[in-house]
Amino acid sequence: MRAVISVQQLTRTYGAHVALDSVSFEIGKGEVVGFLGPNGAGKTTTLRILAGYLPPTSGTARVAGFDVVRDSIEVRQRIGYLPESVPLYRELRVEEMLRFHARLHGMDRARTERRIGAVLEQVQLTERRRDLVGNLSRGLRQRAGLATALLPEPEVLILDEPTSGLDPIQRIEVRSLLQQLASHHTVIVSSHILPEIEAVCPRVIIVTKGRIAADGTREQLLKQLGDRSYVRLEAVVGPDVAKAKALLGSIAGVSEVLDKGRLGIHQCFDLVCSTDLREDAGAIAAARGWALRELSWRTPSLEQIFARIALGDGEALPSSALDGAQPAQAASAAPVELSPLVTLGPTTPTMPAKPPAPTKIVYNLNPFDAGAGRDLGKPKAVDAPKPPTNP
Ligand code: ATP
Repeated sequence: MRAVISVQQLTRTYGAHVALDSVSFEIGKGEVVGFLGPNGAGKTTTLRILAGYLPPTSGTARVAGFDVVRDSIEVRQRIGYLPESVPLYRELRVEEMLRFHARLHGMDRARTERRIGAVLEQVQLTERRRDLVGNLSRGLRQRAGLATALLPEPEVLILDEPTSGLDPIQRIEVRSLLQQLASHHTVIVSSHILPEIEAVCPRVIIVTKGRIAADGTREQLLKQLGDRSYVRLEAVVGPDVAKAKALLGSIAGVSEVLDKGRLGIHQCFDLVCSTDLREDAGAIAAARGWALRELSWRTPSLEQIFARIALGDGEALPSSALDGAQPAQAASAAPVELSPLVTLGPTTPTMPAKPPAPTKIVYNLNPFDAGAGRDLGKPKAVDAPKPPTNP
């Protein structure tokens, strides 16, 4: 898979504070990646560097093969960036604000009107296009921000906490919008709300203290941490418990059967496996005439995986660790060392480096990023920055 986003040894310091420490990852075309981490982990710093609003101290970041520092304009033409707080033009009407952005993007009139119609439809703001941005609810303002990010049909969407501060209903709406966007764009999205990431992102990158602690799909992270999903079966299996256990252990994909003991007339087993094997276990129960009391699939949520990786939460797997776990929730887990990198995601070749660009005129096309400290809308001559030092 071609890497659309390629980050190599990215480091960013603020004075003596190292906010990002040699971070490397790649994101392929069409991937939807959740960027997770506790407060202060370095998520926003990474996303701001990718969006071209903050230079790295060292290392490189490329979007679609373009260096975010040297080829800033090319990068900005290919990304839609929704920062954490979305400072919109509150005094403009929604469509006026979008027209203004279209002008900044150099769109002609026909394309502007076509795109405005399309993005308003996409974020379901068509009915509110004449409303003042300042009069929109927070959820609708967030959608207006998303509409702005989508306007130039970006290849890559960079979304920093797109649902922060929204109520549950608004979050559900934005989540379903993200699911739609995921089919058309390469997306990197940070969020504190893990079920949201779980619903939208097949792959997650977890950062802690400026370093990548884990990178992979939920299943890969789970496997890396020790396979602790299981099918729980409680049934009347007759006197030969050992035989019942052996039968369940013969199911392809079951790595271990834990005898949890007898509960009244029912024998309780946990079948450790990485995929849901309830049907196979149920088929054995039916064939043997076992009266079932429970047949459930229990697997850790992303929240629990995250807690183990980022916070070192939990305890070891042995059979006792499976007690008390709820269906579709985590068994408790072994403490995880934070520093070692768990790289499980797909890897793609790094884009070739481009030669340094000459002096350019830079327009800040995005008025959101107040922290970038640039003069909005006003062209500014800048020297092409020195290429970042690669270690
Ligand atoms: P949050 O989830 O709270 O938004 P984050 O993972 O996005 O956190 P960053 O905002 O990237 O984290 O910050 C990483 C670290 O860098 C934090 O310790 C933060 O205090 C520090 N930091 C960020 N911006 C600046 C700045 N402009 N000056 C000094 N330190 C900063």
